[in-house]
Amino acid sequence: MDLLIKNGTVVTESESFIADIAVKDGKIALIGKNLPLEAKKIVNAAGKYVLPGAIDVHTHLAMPFGGTVSADGYLSGTRAAACGGVTTVFDYPMQRKGKGILETVEERLKMCAPQACVDYAFHCIITDLNEGSLLDEFQAAVDYGITSFKCFFVYKKEGMMVDDGTFVKVLLKAKEVGAITNLHAENPDIIDMNIERFLKEGKTSAWYHYLSRPEFVEAEADKRAIHWAKTFDTPLYIVHLANKEGVEAAAAAKLEGYNIFVETCPQYLEFTCEVYKREDGRNFVCSPPIKGQESQDALWAAIKNGTVDVVATDHCPFQSYEKDWGKDDFTKIPNGCAGIENLYPYMLSKANEGKITFNTAVKLCATNPARIFGCTDKGSITVGKDADIVIYDPDQEFTISVDNMHSDYDHTIWEGVKLHGYPVQTYVRGELVYDHGNFVGKPGFGKFIKREPRIRKG
Ligand SMILES: [Zn+2]
Repeated sequence: MDLLIKNGTVVTESESFIADIAVKDGKIALIGKNLPLEAKKIVNAAGKYVLPGAIDVHTHLAMPFGGTVSADGYLSGTRAAACGGVTTVFDYPMQRKGKGILETVEERLKMCAPQACVDYAFHCIITDLNEGSLLDEFQAAVDYGITSFKCFFVYKKEGMMVDDGTFVKVLLKAKEVGAITNLHAENPDIIDMNIERFLKEGKTSAWYHYLSRPEFVEAEADKRAIHWAKTFDTPLYIVHLANKEGVEAAAAAKLEGYNIFVETCPQYLEFTCEVYKREDGRNFVCSPPIKGQESQDALWAAIKNGTVDVVATDHCPFQSYEKDWGKDDFTKIPNGCAGIENLYPYMLSKANEGKITFNTAVKLCATNPARIFGCTDKGSITVGKDADIVIYDPDQEFTISVDNMHSDYDHTIWEGVKLHGYPVQTYVRGELVYDHGNFVGKPGFGKFIKREPRIRKG
């Protein structure tokens, strides 16, 4: 064997048990008690948890946005991922008018491949159907391993928004080829109306970012999208859902048996809209904005009852000087926050505190993302899967600071947040990439994950 992790508490989505894990050629070869095996490397994990690596299915690395580019590229973003126990990241290449899906993806793949420190996959954002011809490319995209697409209901002037007709065409075509459609759901017209009014009234602080797109702006779009997904019986994955009414609509549709999937993010679980009243409120500006306490409570309840399927980050940090562009005008603040290194430690800390179980944290951050997005070799500690493994010390106290993160940004909304328990080692396909606070991986080691399509229905 190449690696033997002994006596740790192995956690899956449904059970926890003490066992040894043997790794050979990057795969989990055996799981059992007191395995009588020789190995090149033996790790004693007694008193620690042994978890599947997290899969952050929502990141924007080296993303052009708001007149700049997000602060983490593929190298620093995946380095930070490794140090936070994330062993696969999903990035979002953006198709533009006149461009194809595969040429868009391949351009990003070329940038990512030499830099990636953990494994990676791509969803493709669809912004224009090129008079319909783009739909003919969906099958080729799926054959290539791109089994999910994304639409935006917002960002009209950025040329990213799709109308309902385009959205439904994407939903239907995606279903036909065994893919799933992701959606950023907010109502663009009401946002524009509110922004125009606030700016006219001189209301320009970050607080008005929240007030221009409060709960109901997101809820309407969630319900509209769920309506179309139900009407056409297509799968739908709502990204970064953050409001109570949307949670309720998704829960009802799931109960009726529709393939509606819900993602939320740690920033919506930890903070409330009150942060936008702070002096550094602009640093928290992301879209959708962080909502009120009632929504946060609804999200935690939805995590416990299974309505939320995935927790991912929407990692898209910008530097302080870029955030400062919006000091006197909230519309000039680049949208996005850091999170890739905080996702798993945060959710596991909540498990350690007893708010959720470790099994739930594993399900939300690893097993469900792999299942929903077709990463068949990943997402659980199971014989035959990739040895993407995190060793977690439940007794290590950790205070998040920009100084102990491994990204390229110069501030974090998570500054000062205290966590109980922290990852001590991360393995990607059996290779150690993070060890007790230090990145020990190699750029270029991460590989592209070709994903499986969903089972095609009718
Ligand atoms: Zn996003």
